[in-house]
Amino acid sequence: KTFKEIELIAPVQRALVEENYETPTPIQAQTIPSALEGHDILGCAQTGTGKTAALALPILNHLGKENRKARPYRPQALVLAPTRELAIQIGDSFAAYGRHLKLRHLLIYGGVSQKNQVKGLSRGAHIVVATPGRLLDLMNQGEIHLDQLELFVLDEADRMLDMGFLPDLKKIISQLPEKRQSLFFSATLAPKIKELAQRLLKNPVSVNV
Ligand code: AMP
Repeated sequence: KTFKEIELIAPVQRALVEENYETPTPIQAQTIPSALEGHDILGCAQTGTGKTAALALPILNHLGKENRKARPYRPQALVLAPTRELAIQIGDSFAAYGRHLKLRHLLIYGGVSQKNQVKGLSRGAHIVVATPGRLLDLMNQGEIHLDQLELFVLDEADRMLDMGFLPDLKKIISQLPEKRQSLFFSATLAPKIKELAQRLLKNPVSVNV
């Protein structure tokens, strides 16, 4: 199956053509169609398998389907990543695949001043890509509210737990709206990861590549 045979909106299709993406990678082929149908996803995949597009395309497709306010009051999709480097890389993917859409994404990570991030939030972002610690700081300060989220993604869950983010994750997850779509990616599925996935996902489609 090619990308053209997957029901993605035209502006996303156009960006994929420009990126020279023709055929979905196995993780993309096995998760994107289910994600587009609104299912939760439990994806077991390493980096380099194309999982960034697997998480970004369903978000862009969902948010790009209907006209959204140019400056949304609160974020509509959240992607959590373990490190700043990965968050930046995911942000780059949203910029690339979303270049023909009028959706704004914002990066939130620690180790830098939060001033610009707070400014970005007040300008309004449809999609937030964040590391857990700084996100939680901003939540605790009342700078970011997750009550309007429609989609939530946890990327590299195993690395997050290895880095000791579980307490932060639990606090963040407790603030998510019940009604949402969640995508969960991890390179391994150790019992602790499965437990977290069960807490987050409803009847997920499980994919192992
Ligand atoms: P990731 O695993 O998401 O870090 O992606 C690994 C690399 O594969 C990135 O450089 C992507 O741009 C590229 N890539 C992802 N999906 C595809 C695809 N379907 N066709 C061609 N390249 C891809």
